[in-house]
Amino acid sequence: LAEKKILSDSIRDIKDFPQEGVVFKDITTLLNNKEAYQVLMNHLENRYRSYNLDYIAGIDSRGFIFGAALADRLKIGFVPVRKKGKLPSTTVCEKYELEYGYDEVEIHLDAFPKKDARVLLIDDLLATGGTANAASKLIKNVNANLIEVCFLLNLTFLSGATKIEKHAPVYSILEI
Ligand code: IMP
Repeated sequence: LAEKKILSDSIRDIKDFPQEGVVFKDITTLLNNKEAYQVLMNHLENRYRSYNLDYIAGIDSRGFIFGAALADRLKIGFVPVRKKGKLPSTTVCEKYELEYGYDEVEIHLDAFPKKDARVLLIDDLLATGGTANAASKLIKNVNANLIEVCFLLNLTFLSGATKIEKHAPVYSILEI
């Protein structure tokens, strides 16, 4: 599909970032390309306008970029899932394992004021699934309905989707 080629061509590989041996997928070259950015946002708007969503939840920090833009397109609210220590009001917290050590994500306890809110969770990239799994748990723990989890890019060889599919369907525009 021409659409997917425009998107994949606009993402660049950065070798040995943030550490040696890692090939980092850099999406800043998609964001600063007006054609690719419009293709991406049109695709997301077309897919999700019939989902009857109440909120987009974006994962810190690249999930904020697409998530906030999509929420505006759909004229619904946006909710940030943040790394620990950034949210000012009462939060719920979820720890998850990294290759070395652990990390934590948080959400405001009252992030979804609407009862039985229908929520889409979004991030740029699915790797091991640890981050999105923890974010999915948070959304459920504050009593919202997780309708789908969406990624621009899924590194399928890491099988992250198997963790997330316990919570909700996983959708990714591009797969590697
Ligand atoms: P996971 O928890 O292993 O699935 O890692 C996914 C998280 O790490 C997401 O929040 C991504 O934004 C980030 N991440 C991991 N690798 C990359 C990459 O190559 N490019 C951009 N973000 C990445």
